[in-house]
Amino acid sequence: MNNKKIYVFNIFLFSLAVLTILLLLVRFLGDIYIDRAYYLRLINATIFFLNLIILTAWLFFGVVASVICLTIGLIFTLLTAAIAKSPIINMHLILFGLVMVSAFYYDKKSNASMGLQQADLEDIEEELNLLNDERLQNQLQLKALEKSLSRFSILKDITEKLSSSLSLAEVANLVAKNSFSIISKADCCLLYLIDEKKHNLILTSMRKSQEFKGFKIEGADLFDVRVLKKKQPLIIQDIRKDYRFDYEVIKGKTREFRSLISTPLISEDRAIGVIRLDALNAEIFNSEDLRILNIIANLGAVAVENAHLYERTEELAVTDGLTGCYVQRYMRQLLTEEIKSTAEPNNKISFLMIDIDHFKKYNDSYGHIAGDIVLKTTAKIFLKMAGSRAIVARYGGEEFAIGLPGTSKKEAADLAEKIRKQVEERIFYLRREKTNVSISIGVATITDEVKDVNRLIAVADKALYEAKGTGRNKVCIS
Ligand code: GH3
Ligand code: MG
Ligand code: MG
Repeated sequence: MNNKKIYVFNIFLFSLAVLTILLLLVRFLGDIYIDRAYYLRLINATIFFLNLIILTAWLFFGVVASVICLTIGLIFTLLTAAIAKSPIINMHLILFGLVMVSAFYYDKKSNASMGLQQADLEDIEEELNLLNDERLQNQLQLKALEKSLSRFSILKDITEKLSSSLSLAEVANLVAKNSFSIISKADCCLLYLIDEKKHNLILTSMRKSQEFKGFKIEGADLFDVRVLKKKQPLIIQDIRKDYRFDYEVIKGKTREFRSLISTPLISEDRAIGVIRLDALNAEIFNSEDLRILNIIANLGAVAVENAHLYERTEELAVTDGLTGCYVQRYMRQLLTEEIKSTAEPNNKISFLMIDIDHFKKYNDSYGHIAGDIVLKTTAKIFLKMAGSRAIVARYGGEEFAIGLPGTSKKEAADLAEKIRKQVEERIFYLRREKTNVSISIGVATITDEVKDVNRLIAVADKALYEAKGTGRNKVCIS
């Protein structure tokens, strides 16, 4: 019962007490002052009010309250009945009994239905708890699903972008950028690709967090090399506690980090690179992160291979497979652009036409393979001596051409002479036999009369013809 109800119930009990005192007073004073009939009526009225109070108490406070009131009332009524000896009072007694029985009956019934309701309530509560649990689990699942959905939509995005890109730099940037943003806990993302020529790992793309900005990143460290060699992913939760590595030994040999995930880029069973995410704090990555990194690495490996192939195809289209020099068509294109766009004055673009002397004879004497070695070696000499601005091309067969932007006729002639000498002095050992070749060179320069590539080549060719006709192994200037 709450305070308010207790307060009201006290008023009931107080009323009962007042009525009892009143009746007792009436009883004692009645004999003396009041007429008996009036006195009986007063008793009847009071008992009627008692009944009313009991009923109301029962209605408001339930059976316990009514029984308390009833007991007090009953004691009082019996007392009065004994004194008054009135039959009407006996009727009131029966009324008390009836009220009590109906109160108990009603209470039992309502208790039974309350019991049922209680059971129902418990069932409902249990069901509610189960539903709540299920809702929480569903919420967690939904969150996880949303996370993986967003990851997969990013992965789909990367796949599309990677498949539409053929530039190696772009592919590398895409892989590093997306790994860093999808697995957003890392402080640093590094992508190393193998340099086929140098046979080492080259840092091709990198992303750093704000915290990592001050840290210097050098070449691949022992972890990158380990991942590459083993062709296996690596996860380190805390480098200071990892039983596989002795932190004291490796401390100075690697950059600052506590946790790491790294995986190789594998193409046709070859490791072509390594992608790595590291963080300054320990316990940052989990196996799910490594799984995602693996997926990106696999996508990246295919894209890197495609970019390599594309680069190679492009290279093949413009360079000669045997010598690495440009092909004639591409040389013409470059030289035309040079003539058109250059700021050099006309007489500063020169051209050499080179032909190996008696090369058919050399081939016949030492074989085609030996001939190929000579072609490769002389091409190397041309590439080395002509300088970085020169456009060195294999013109066809054993003929080469060198476009020389920023070179006057005199400078070109001097260079031609040096090259001729260098080739002449180069010795090729074949079956313990010393062999050598010589070259003839025709020199031409852009002038007011010789304005385009075709004319330039024709003039140089004429000078070469002259060199051939006048004894070979010489330089002739147009
Ligand atoms: P010359 O001094 O007049 O230039 O005589 P040459 O024998 O060099 O000239 P010719 O044009 O008669 O012969 C060119 C030879 O170059 C014929 C061919 O066997 C050889 N040759 C052309 N391309 C290749 C090649 O890719 N590899 C090899 N090994 N030989 C080649
Ligand atoms: Mg020749
Ligand atoms: Mg020839």
